[in-house]
Amino acid sequence: MIIANHTSQSLRPRKYRAIQRRDLDSLPQLSQLSDEDMLNMRAVSAVLPFRVNDYIVDELIDWDNVPADPMFQLSFPQSDMLAPADLAAMRGLIAANAPEAGQQALAREIQSRLNPHPAGQMEVNVPRLDDEPLPGMQHKYRETVLFFPSHGQTCHAYCTYCFRWAQFVGVDELKFASREAGNLARYLRRHQEVNCVLITGGDPMVMRSSVLARYIEPLLGLDHLMSIRIGTKSLAWWPYRYVTDPDADDTLRLFERVVKSGRHLAIMAHFSHPRELATRAVQEAIRRVRDTGAVIRCQAPLVRHVNDDALTWSNLWKRQIVLGLVPYYMFVERDTGPKNYFEVPLARAHEIFSKAWRRMSGLGRTVRGPSMSALPGKVLVDGIEEVNGEKVFVLKFVQGREPAWAGRVFFARFDPQATWLDQLKPAFGAKEFFFEPAMREIKEHHRAPAWSDRSRFVQQLSEFGHVEWM
Ligand SMILES: *Cc1c(COP(=O)(O)O)cnc(C)c1O
Repeated sequence: MIIANHTSQSLRPRKYRAIQRRDLDSLPQLSQLSDEDMLNMRAVSAVLPFRVNDYIVDELIDWDNVPADPMFQLSFPQSDMLAPADLAAMRGLIAANAPEAGQQALAREIQSRLNPHPAGQMEVNVPRLDDEPLPGMQHKYRETVLFFPSHGQTCHAYCTYCFRWAQFVGVDELKFASREAGNLARYLRRHQEVNCVLITGGDPMVMRSSVLARYIEPLLGLDHLMSIRIGTKSLAWWPYRYVTDPDADDTLRLFERVVKSGRHLAIMAHFSHPRELATRAVQEAIRRVRDTGAVIRCQAPLVRHVNDDALTWSNLWKRQIVLGLVPYYMFVERDTGPKNYFEVPLARAHEIFSKAWRRMSGLGRTVRGPSMSALPGKVLVDGIEEVNGEKVFVLKFVQGREPAWAGRVFFARFDPQATWLDQLKPAFGAKEFFFEPAMREIKEHHRAPAWSDRSRFVQQLSEFGHVEWM
């Protein structure tokens, strides 16, 4: 059923309880699995983060369809997420009841080989204030600063494909964490080119409303800030956050204050599958969030075993439209963690996206994708065409590390197997893509992007005839 289900019956409250690795043995729904499957699950969850909750187990997973069920794939460890040799080694230690320290050492070693921090996030996106790095922030695109509040570095449940998985497995020295909201406000005061803050995590909505307010309220005094976004999976993983949790109402009042301050509040909701939009709890949560004046925009990666077919995406977007949500991005899964298990080739991603997109009316065509968040920027696979007898990917920057790249189209040789930008070769005999010389400078000489230097920023504005919001 696609049409929203409005009933006046009130929703029975649930109390949040995380279900984690140590609870695997006592979860009644898992008793249908073999000892072999359970050992695999314990082995994978020693390496990759695992956390679900009662809502997911009771209302989202179809236990008659396990292990193929997409919600089960999205939230429970799967044996093929580790390379066979790693899985066997980990299983061996667990089956032999090896000491905890040995199990942890092996887990760390496997983790370190899973590209825990893709796309140079740690090196090149961390902004500075008075030459001091600000580790809880990323400023990659001129208009938008990403902020990772230290209190929001976990989630109501973990997605098995998460590209920020390394944050949850205790690789502490690499963890993004912000010391204080004050740094953010000070940075923004110096950076009038920023008009949007995107608060993300983990999941900022794991914070109680009083803590969240501590981060958000200082932002409401900054005149150049036109929008605040909150990146969250809470509507999908724990909709009770907005309905029956003790501070649900306080949270909605906070959202109202942001809207009343004259700003756009966007809840960047992560919905991977139409089933996440089908429960009464999520529909009630959506109704309450929208009543505050916040706009809910939706994004998710395309992942094998979860949502790798066109019908799933067109149903997902149709449900979003019915419920008043705005389809925003379809992402290509990043090159990290259990990538081999989840990856979908770019050619197939483009096929799934276009097929689903063609089934939408214009209301659904606000969505962009498939989009790679790569080091030079956000790159869409915008088409597959033949030009002068050469089959090519038509690629397009929708965000560029250099603002002038946004909107630029470029071409790569078609490759049916490629899964990420760095595997593509330029088309038409070109030696490199147009952005590669600039990226070398940024990487090798740590050159800041053009806009961080005020004079070049102003020069670019006049060159490209930008009209600024300010
Ligand atoms: C996606 C992204 C943004 C926001 O980009 P929009 O196209 O404005 O949604 C900002 N910073 C980083 C690092 C991102 O990956």
